[in-house]
Amino acid sequence: MLDVLIKNANIIDGTGKPAYKGSIGISGGKLVMADGSEEATAVIDASGKYVSPGWIDAHSHGDLILGSEDAHLFKTTQGVTTELTGQCGLSMAPVMPENLAAVQNMLSMGTTWFPDDMKNWSSFARFLDYADQQAHGKRQDVHRPQQPTHRRDGHGQPPRNRCGA
Ligand SMILES: [Zn+2]
Repeated sequence: MLDVLIKNANIIDGTGKPAYKGSIGISGGKLVMADGSEEATAVIDASGKYVSPGWIDAHSHGDLILGSEDAHLFKTTQGVTTELTGQCGLSMAPVMPENLAAVQNMLSMGTTWFPDDMKNWSSFARFLDYADQQAHGKRQDVHRPQQPTHRRDGHGQPPRNRCGA
């Protein structure tokens, strides 16, 4: 007996082949093969719907809202189950206390909400500890600043004096 049976779905399996009609089982938290005839605790009729593996957002600034109440909700409701986060040429951490206001001012184009714990992020390890403590509905890999794309716009490596490096 399956926990969940999703039947009559248009399945996009991520291999590159066209969508096909089929069923998917979930048992013990894992996907299993199903033909649609299985018994299940819950049955979802996905007629007219598409089912696919979780999407990966390979360029996300989601670390800006890490720890906010709905940080994971807006991604998972769009099908994103993994995101690689980091700012373009700027980083949430490390930031020395004397530069916190200036860094938050630069980041304010993306958010004006910052966690109280940010004042303690003078090391990247401390930021990662904070990230690990946040509830996730998805997998999140936090990275140092992403590669600069437009140096003329001010994107680039973080200033050494801000990082303390
Ligand atoms: Zn970016």
